[in-house]
Amino acid sequence: MVQRGKLYVISGPSGAGKSTVIARLLKRLDMTYFSISATTREPRRGERDGFDYNFVKKEQFLEMIEKDLLLEWARYVNNYYGTPSQPVDEKLAEGYDVILDIETQGAAQVMTKRPDTIGMFLFPGSFSELENRLRARGSDSEDKIQKRLIQARKECERVGMYSYVIINDRVETAAEEAASIIIAEKCRTANRLHYFK
Ligand code: ADP
Ligand code: 5GP
Repeated sequence: MVQRGKLYVISGPSGAGKSTVIARLLKRLDMTYFSISATTREPRRGERDGFDYNFVKKEQFLEMIEKDLLLEWARYVNNYYGTPSQPVDEKLAEGYDVILDIETQGAAQVMTKRPDTIGMFLFPGSFSELENRLRARGSDSEDKIQKRLIQARKECERVGMYSYVIINDRVETAAEEAASIIIAEKCRTANRLHYFK
């Protein structure tokens, strides 16, 4: 019998390095699936539809809400973002650990609906470093960077919702910390009782 996978939420302010760390984590661990969100925001340079996000029009997004196809959704800096339920449930049933890269309002919805979700919050170490990274990414206008920095302060106030905090000072170390959390969860007694049958 396949052992059901676990659901992980990784949040943290935009620019903290979530995408970078998750990409490293997926290379490091087998049987780990990244949930591709739907969003109404424009793709950034280098982002691929169906890989980084499913880029959709607002009407399509509202239809997904209407049809109850989303595990959670939120508005973030004037765009909609949401997690399609079906792939998440399929992958969990196949035994994959599923990683959601979502902001704090969506994370709260998931934690309420699925209380066994494990939350990790990624932070670059300081707000000044966060600002440096948003600028270095070079994908947002000054106005958008300022909005993301205001949003960042709000998101950090909700850090208490998460079981773990990862400081993304070095990508390798942060990915190692996230991987260690996932590995430790697999070793929980409750997940290993089948060995004793
Ligand atoms: P997020 O997904 O949280 O919005 P990204 O993964 O897009 O963040 O990272 C934001 C920027 O910071 C990118 O330019 C990325 O290359 C850079 N970055 C990520 N992690 C680190 C790190 N540990 N040190 C320095 N720069 C980093
Ligand atoms: P970005 O535009 O920088 O890719 O993402 C902005 C924010 O939206 C990030 O905090 C990211 O974690 C969050 N996000 C991405 N996908 C989803 C999603 O499906 N649901 C929610 N609630 N937030 C998401």
